[in-house]
Amino acid sequence: MSESVLPNHLINFSDKSLLKLPSSLYKTCKTYLSSEDIKKIQKAYSFAFYAHMGQKRKDGSDYITHPVAVTEILLELKMDSDSICAALMHDVLEDCNVQKSNLAKMFGDDVAHIVDGVSKLGKIDLKNVADKNANNLQKMALAMANDVRVILVKLCDRLHNMRTIEFVPRKKQIQKSKETLDLYGPLALRVGMQDIRAELEDRAFKCLHPMRADLLKSAIKTSSGGRKKIVQKIRKELKSRLKSNGIEDAGVKGREKNLYSIYNKIKTKHKPFSEILDVYGFRILVDSVDDCYRSLGIIHNYFSPIENKFKDYIAIPKTNGYQALHTSLLALDAFPIEVQIQTRSMWATANMGIAAHWSYKTDDDAGIGTGLRASRWLSSLIDLQKKSSNPTEFADSLKKDLDSEEVYLFSPKGDIYALKAGATPIDFAYEVHTGLGDSIVGCKVNRREAPLNVELESGQTVEIITSSKTVEADPAWLNFVVTGKARSGVRARLRNQKVSSARKAGKFMLESELQRSGKSLKDYRGSTLKRVLDSIGVSSLNKLLTELGSGKRTGNIVAERFYSGLKIRKDTDAKKIKPVFIHDNHIEGVSVVFAKCCHPVYKDPVIAHSDTERGIVIHHKRCKQVAPFISKDPRYIPGKWAVNTKTHVYTAKINIVTIDEMGVLADLVSVFTKAGINIEQINTKNIDSTFASFEMEVDVEDLEELNNIMLKIRSKKITTSCTRLINEK
Ligand code: MN
Repeated sequence: MSESVLPNHLINFSDKSLLKLPSSLYKTCKTYLSSEDIKKIQKAYSFAFYAHMGQKRKDGSDYITHPVAVTEILLELKMDSDSICAALMHDVLEDCNVQKSNLAKMFGDDVAHIVDGVSKLGKIDLKNVADKNANNLQKMALAMANDVRVILVKLCDRLHNMRTIEFVPRKKQIQKSKETLDLYGPLALRVGMQDIRAELEDRAFKCLHPMRADLLKSAIKTSSGGRKKIVQKIRKELKSRLKSNGIEDAGVKGREKNLYSIYNKIKTKHKPFSEILDVYGFRILVDSVDDCYRSLGIIHNYFSPIENKFKDYIAIPKTNGYQALHTSLLALDAFPIEVQIQTRSMWATANMGIAAHWSYKTDDDAGIGTGLRASRWLSSLIDLQKKSSNPTEFADSLKKDLDSEEVYLFSPKGDIYALKAGATPIDFAYEVHTGLGDSIVGCKVNRREAPLNVELESGQTVEIITSSKTVEADPAWLNFVVTGKARSGVRARLRNQKVSSARKAGKFMLESELQRSGKSLKDYRGSTLKRVLDSIGVSSLNKLLTELGSGKRTGNIVAERFYSGLKIRKDTDAKKIKPVFIHDNHIEGVSVVFAKCCHPVYKDPVIAHSDTERGIVIHHKRCKQVAPFISKDPRYIPGKWAVNTKTHVYTAKINIVTIDEMGVLADLVSVFTKAGINIEQINTKNIDSTFASFEMEVDVEDLEELNNIMLKIRSKKITTSCTRLINEK
């Protein structure tokens, strides 16, 4: 999709150009939303109307009828105005060249986030999901949504699409129906929306297996003919028993089971149809938990309960938050019945799930935002979980899933990959294919170029840019990759690169050694070079340099051979050794590391040491690791700082001794924080009861910044001393 600018007529709405809301929407809006909310919804409607202008649905109607129908369903659930706006505009990102940022500007971040989330969920194509485990699919969807309202809008979108499924081609019907049974039905159950689940599943079932659905339906019809009277009789009996025992306005209903659940029971439990239908189901609705238990007592008194069939889901709710008392009895001495007893609000929760909590305002909810109300609902569920002995995992797992430890990402082809949270494009590349990881040079996230260390978010499309040339891996990558695959991939590449960097380091060592006599490798060519190599006993210069760089040969001995090759004597005057220039963290293109023993910083006097293990290491000149060897060993070369480009921060180590009293550490830390200096590490030691000592590693730009901050620390009353630690003798 190109990133064209939104046409002006969509951005520059004047109040005059706002369209009237269709009356089907307006009527319901007025019942519970403020006029301010309705104005915003009107704006969203107008926006969607213009954005979809000219587009048609498969049945030939204007496209806008679809978002309007989706919105009608959400209005029935009494959702908040942001969800309603998002529902009206839920297809504009996909189909109309509108950017998320446009929506955020005009309608706020919440609306933009919900619309964006719904679009992302729409991209889940089950064909491309390797892991077909239903539970994982739901988790993936929740993690991608990351706001419950995204799920609710998406479910209503799917519901309307299933209601109008007959207009799409058969192939798409089958795909959508499967998707509905595999993902959206279970998802609806997971967020506790029983009604929507039942309708989604029944419609998908009818679409996939029209014959079976018809057969089942007519079988139910036939068998329920004679049942009606019995159901009526039992219902009356239950109601009058409850009433005469003081439960005045209990609602008693015969329960309808949905088609798909009957089908599933026959299929999975291998029970005959008659046995499943022979049980009569009733629901008793009362006003309080107290009445639930009293009702149970009353009906157990009049009908004989069937043993072991009682379940208390009020004290121990089901994992999706469902609460009710379940019992089975023998009614009128002959008919087994199943009775579910619950309060009206439990019933509403079970049927409308989270949405119920938007619609059932209590007095102390007045005036608080819907997001807050939703989170209150979640926390009340958590509360419930703590109180009951067998905890409900619902609130917990839902919360966890919305805030997942995994991210779900798309390849440009639409394949989905699940990675550990914190994953970067390099992790993604290695997850897709080792070869892809090995040749990564850049990446695009949602079609825009992005750095390789960017933390990816669920729902993003990641495109890896590769190069056919050999690409150097950067050891710094190991600092931010999070997956095992990427880590070992990068490590393997670094091992291979070591050979070439050993060669570079070897060249650097030999050159700096030859320099002492004003010579360079260039002075050795043809037969002279061959003679020298022969005398050393090595087949090629490259091999020699690699061996030198990896520490298999000693620089000064090799150099000695080179000198005798040109028949010159080694000049041992150390003053003549030219220093090497350190650019950031490179010397002549070879990357260097800064020693962890003495922590040199930019502008410190330093020594470059070609360490056989670590390559070239920069030490502080006074560090005891190098000080004794300077001018004795050619592997220790004075370093000079090139003009710093300030892309590198240096870690310095300091020791601070203070009076030991409450809050000294916080006091010290605030000095660093104020100066904008990051503290990497603090080790606290109590010297005795009066003094405390803190060893700190801090990040600075250069020696000057370090000296300044140390001065500030010393000027504090509590400070006894503040010294730099550079590993001196
Ligand atoms: Mn839609």
